Amino acid sequence: MRLLVTSIVAFILLEAFALNVHAYKSYANHQLWRLHVKTNEQVAKILEFSRTAHRHDINFWSEEFRINVPIDVSVPPEAIDSFAEYLTSFTDKINYDVAMKDIGAVIDRQALLHKLVPSKVNDDDFAYDKYHTLADIQAWIDLMVKTYPTLASSFSVGQSYEKRDMKGLKISSSKQALKSDGTPVNQKKAVWWDGGIHAREWISPATVIYIAHALLSNYSKDATITHLVDQFDYYILPVFNVDGYSYTWTKDRLWRKTRSKTIIPLCYGADPNRNWDYKWCEGGASHDPCSDTYCGSKAFSEVETLQVSQFLNTHKDTIVHYINFHSYSQLWMSPWGYTTKPPDQFKLQDDGSAQAVDALGSVFGTQYTHGNIGATIYIASGNTVDWTFGTANIIYSYAIELRDTGEFGFVLPEDQIVPSGQETLAGELALLKYIETQVYA
Ligand SMILES: [Zn+2]
Repeated sequence: MRLLVTSIVAFILLEAFALNVHAYKSYANHQLWRLHVKTNEQVAKILEFSRTAHRHDINFWSEEFRINVPIDVSVPPEAIDSFAEYLTSFTDKINYDVAMKDIGAVIDRQALLHKLVPSKVNDDDFAYDKYHTLADIQAWIDLMVKTYPTLASSFSVGQSYEKRDMKGLKISSSKQALKSDGTPVNQKKAVWWDGGIHAREWISPATVIYIAHALLSNYSKDATITHLVDQFDYYILPVFNVDGYSYTWTKDRLWRKTRSKTIIPLCYGADPNRNWDYKWCEGGASHDPCSDTYCGSKAFSEVETLQVSQFLNTHKDTIVHYINFHSYSQLWMSPWGYTTKPPDQFKLQDDGSAQAVDALGSVFGTQYTHGNIGATIYIASGNTVDWTFGTANIIYSYAIELRDTGEFGFVLPEDQIVPSGQETLAGELALLKYIETQVYA
């Protein structure tokens, strides 16, 4: 009897421990700070600190640090005093504002709102103004195929590290693509969009879903969309980092990387936007498995980036335009990321960005900045679009940072999904019209 009681108590304790370990990570009273760095010395201090920040559960939402660009960083309650002390300990102290007083409260409020109006996929309905789980998004792909059978089909890029399907949606009409003089082109070109390469950037899958649905539902109704759907095939992967994205729904809303094991126990995943085999890990990326910009043990160490690269290689004769959707900062960027120096084709690429940003801004007045990654925000080697441009020769390769500019950052409220979709669609349609004139000349 005694043994039985002991066993039961041990079992209950184990269960309690397991529950605790597997609970959704709380961000109660975590604050988002905006640091104002004014000198190179201050930048160096922050850079040095960031290397061990994960030990204090301090998480940099900004990826790179430079003078006069605000640095967003989340700080847990237990580190608030010590981090404040650190920032003000230099003769040249670093000023900061508290941009969000309680990240956990924002997450909880959004989760509550989400539950009050449940998201659901049924035969003919999908809530385009809600964030969705991976299962719901994959069911949505099936719904699109069923609803628009002459235009939509599904494809798979392969299985993720945790064996989830990397499922995509292809949009393709039976019409021939035409040159501007009305004669048919020999080969229809293709476009690739992906969202959710960084798990916590929920607005990116939501925006990709919105614009994909806009193409399907407006085909044969809207002249511009009908034309652009006839001119290109579209390969759309709404969630690139399927394991990380699932993890943000079940364990940690602010997870960024993949979920592969590393050589360091308790440090998981690589940054899938630093893992590509083009100038891999030469700058703006880390060899530390605990870092949020860990480049992986080698280029394409992550099965997700490897498989997308293989898919793109297989289709590189047709794909002329690639978009890697991220958030946040409102930027429309082209290569290179590994250097501040723009490529020879920069003008060709950036002229497209300028058109996109103009059209996007004309919808709600949302301001985007455009330029090459290295000069516009930061050096990021081994990033996706450096490879799609540098290796796969997809000239019109872009990395887009969607809404906002830091008011909510990664926890953008659901009421911004549709506006983000509408303005991004306008920007992308303008860019497609520009690309069409370049590739079918
Ligand atoms: Zn990102």
